[in-house]
Amino acid sequence: MSGRPSFSCLAALAVLLLAGCAGLEVAQPPAPPPTPEARPLPPPGPPAPPAPPTPAPPTTRAAPPTHVRFFPDFVAVIAQPGDTLSSLAARYLDDPSLDWRIAEFNGISTLKPGQGVIVPFKPLDVGGVTPRGYQTVPVLVYHKFSKQTSDRMTVRQDAFEEQMAFLKRNGYRVITLDDLFEFLDGKRPIPRRSVVITFDDGWRSMYDIAYPILKRYGYPATLFVSTDLIHSTSTTLDWNKIREMVRNGIDIQCHGKTHRSLGKIENGETLQAYFEAVKAELTESAKIVKRQLGKDVKYLAYPFGDTNSLLIGILGKLGFEGGLTVVRAGNPFFADDFRVGRSMIYGDFDLRAFENNLRWISDEGLK
Ligand SMILES: [Zn+2]
Repeated sequence: MSGRPSFSCLAALAVLLLAGCAGLEVAQPPAPPPTPEARPLPPPGPPAPPAPPTPAPPTTRAAPPTHVRFFPDFVAVIAQPGDTLSSLAARYLDDPSLDWRIAEFNGISTLKPGQGVIVPFKPLDVGGVTPRGYQTVPVLVYHKFSKQTSDRMTVRQDAFEEQMAFLKRNGYRVITLDDLFEFLDGKRPIPRRSVVITFDDGWRSMYDIAYPILKRYGYPATLFVSTDLIHSTSTTLDWNKIREMVRNGIDIQCHGKTHRSLGKIENGETLQAYFEAVKAELTESAKIVKRQLGKDVKYLAYPFGDTNSLLIGILGKLGFEGGLTVVRAGNPFFADDFRVGRSMIYGDFDLRAFENNLRWISDEGLK
């Protein structure tokens, strides 16, 4: 878009003018606007609601309005004591979780009093395309956990803990599966370094070990359940535990009923028998989830990662909106909704091996 550079320049100029105007200090008396263009009036543009009064910090007098100036596409703000990226996002964008939009536009990760920032009203781009490449979103998949031991499909508690801390420390944002599909469908931008966390099957150790850690970090995640596995045993989940997790940010989606491969015809199976079996697996497991949780599933994690065009056709006709493989690849906005890649995190991964699955920008396929 040709307007982008001039928008950036205008925004930068605005914050400089505002910073000069406010002297970068809250306590300074308001100075008159330096140019006739920079009037402190909100424009009539639709995404710029008049800002509610800034709450005054308890130790200073009420801040004069010179620290905020509205423009058609953005507001320029000098941060006041107590302001955070989230509080500015809540105040000017009506959504504290859009803090990343301000952080990314200004190239910052935190806010200090006196700092000038631009709050853009509109998303800057929807497909995550930048001069360096296009955004890709890693989807991680886990199965089982253990306090002490690990094997390929079982991740130790301390390793999972370390991986979640790594995401936090390195600025990754854990988004929901719905966020990912909205990004894939070009409906909304997502933060850079977005990542999705998923679990397959329905093992009890997810509840015992991974879930409390996710809860502590406030990370959302999706569990793909194989409904025949859901019984109260020492190794499998029951619906009560699943309901508790759903109340705390865990989304439940489909992984079939019996965990048979839905993408491969079994030995001796006719095509017609295969077709009927696949339909039954999908409709019956969806019905069980609906009965237990009152919700419709819309994404399938293919058991064993197997898929084919017939299965994808059936999914579409049944109203599914996406399918996830175990192809180790991040997902750009032009990824196929029914062949979304996921990276298995194995029990023997060190942090470096984990990090190899977190690539979030790519220029592959463009050269
Ligand atoms: Zn599975």
